[in-house]
Amino acid sequence: MSEIKVTLPDGSCKSLQEGAKVYDLAAAIGAGLAKASLAGKINGNLVDLSAVLPDDAHVEIITGKSPESLEIIRHSTSHLMAQAVKSLFPQALVTIGPAIETGFYYDFDVDSPFSPEDLQKIEEKMRQLAGADLAVERMDLVKADAVKLFKEMGESYKVEIIEALDTEIVSLYRQGNFIDLCRGPHLPSTSFCRAFKLTSIAGAYWRGDEKNKMLQRIYGTAFADKKELDAYLERLEEAKRRDHRKLGKELDLFSFSDEVGAGLVIWHPKGAMLRTIIEDFERKEHFKRGYDIVVGPQILKTELWQRSGHYDNYRENMYFTEVEGQGYGIKPMNCLAHMMIYKTQLRSYRDLPLRFFELGTVHRHERAGVLHGLLRVRGFTQDDAHIICTPEQLDGEIKGVISFVKDVMAIFGFDYEMELSTRPEKSIGSDVDWERATAALLGALKDSGRAFEINEGDGAFYGPKIDIKLRDALDRRWQCATIQCDFTLPERFDLTYVDADGERKRPVMVHRVILGAIERFIGVLIEHFAGNFPVWLSPLQAIVLTVTDNQVPYAQQAFEELRKAGIRVQKDFRNEKLGFKIREAQLQKIPYMLVIGDKEVETLTVTPRFRDGRNIPSMKTNEFAEFIAGEVASFH
Ligand SMILES: [Zn+2]
Ligand SMILES: [Zn+2]
Repeated sequence: MSEIKVTLPDGSCKSLQEGAKVYDLAAAIGAGLAKASLAGKINGNLVDLSAVLPDDAHVEIITGKSPESLEIIRHSTSHLMAQAVKSLFPQALVTIGPAIETGFYYDFDVDSPFSPEDLQKIEEKMRQLAGADLAVERMDLVKADAVKLFKEMGESYKVEIIEALDTEIVSLYRQGNFIDLCRGPHLPSTSFCRAFKLTSIAGAYWRGDEKNKMLQRIYGTAFADKKELDAYLERLEEAKRRDHRKLGKELDLFSFSDEVGAGLVIWHPKGAMLRTIIEDFERKEHFKRGYDIVVGPQILKTELWQRSGHYDNYRENMYFTEVEGQGYGIKPMNCLAHMMIYKTQLRSYRDLPLRFFELGTVHRHERAGVLHGLLRVRGFTQDDAHIICTPEQLDGEIKGVISFVKDVMAIFGFDYEMELSTRPEKSIGSDVDWERATAALLGALKDSGRAFEINEGDGAFYGPKIDIKLRDALDRRWQCATIQCDFTLPERFDLTYVDADGERKRPVMVHRVILGAIERFIGVLIEHFAGNFPVWLSPLQAIVLTVTDNQVPYAQQAFEELRKAGIRVQKDFRNEKLGFKIREAQLQKIPYMLVIGDKEVETLTVTPRFRDGRNIPSMKTNEFAEFIAGEVASFH
């Protein structure tokens, strides 16, 4: 038998017998590696351990430590789940089961939805099947045979999927009596699924189309070992505890109502105060950076939306209304009014850049299925601005926005990541426009000194953009700021300026938000802080509590003094036990409790107690007001 030679990632070579498999290579390198091996990579392509090695190939052994392993583990676990479902519910039809960022899912066509008890049974069955150490074998079949096989099994969805495939040969994977269509690769045996958990059930339409049948989707997650799984599940529990929908109710910040309409937020006093604090902050920060505050109307004539292109391209997401035969579109974006302001005057290069800022409330009809608390709504307010400048000014303007983002993220205490999306295949605008805008965005990113990613070809057809994603306390990423260059709207609305040479030229327009939608940002803040807002952001900063009725007159006086001093303060003079009142205030996550007992009445002081239980020495009311002002000032 002849020999083959393969090259390992460290550049070293290994000789093996012809017909040797990836696993044989791992074993030839060492028993430890053989034991840890999960899959392989031949010339950059992921393969099973059972794949035969070609001569002269570059080969890598994938173990639980390789970044590629997680997807293989999760995908294999989704097969294991499907096998368990089929063995418990033989009538269930299998559809698709991919690995996703948080784990995996599989969609099944079943007569009645799965219950939480079913989920437990399925998980138990999965453990049994994993314990049985069933080998996972790959089979390559010609398409017609694969169709025939799945037809015999009655798996009509698989038949539909295979028939749509544009290949001669399809690969199937078998474990025990369960066969699934799959590209692979897979773990070599079910016993390699060592750390998994089924997490939830949801309805999902076949192929995501509402006209198709509703399937049952089971979500789960899987990791290389139990330690990683447990850490993930703990984060998931923590996320549940911090869920902004739950905390929003407990802290009485906002609500939704079916009578009002899905996705439309109703802000209660404390939630509205939180919004107001952020909005005031935004106005001040924008004003400092040379933005003009503007306000556009909520509805604009339909003809204007036709001109902007929104009517043709975005109509399904817009709300319309008609009065006296005139149609109006409720704005889904704030750009149009800002351009109308620009067009009220003949602009010279000396007037530019213009930076129009609006806390612009917009409405977009999102599908009911994607609505999610404050994170995905139908009516929201953006911290939106449009910068209209000469092409030469673009560099400086983009740098200004990036440094704005940096300042704001520092104030809220968020780390963040930046991504540049460049010109897609289909685009409008000249090469010169695209090059200049992309160079401006790239230059500003490099200038920021932070690492960034480039998504080639991922920009909008009308211009390149930067997306900025903040990272919260649970290490989740949330899109906040975007900076988008636009060559089409200045064209469509014929925006011009007179340049130094007396010629009329086309300005560049930049759409940008810093926090994005205030609603969404507040949803993120609630979860990030778990409702324990810093003092400067907290809708309530202090609450005055009495021990008995005897202290009420003095407590009332202290309360009024603090309110006059601008402190966001509440009172609780109810005839309840002090311990009860303190617990309630703690649940409300109010930063400071001011307990007024006889000693405080005598000495005309307040004794602050922080929400985590820390006590602060007694002080006069005006001293407490100054103390709060000091804490707040450090954030401005
Ligand atoms: Zn698979
Ligand atoms: Zn815009």
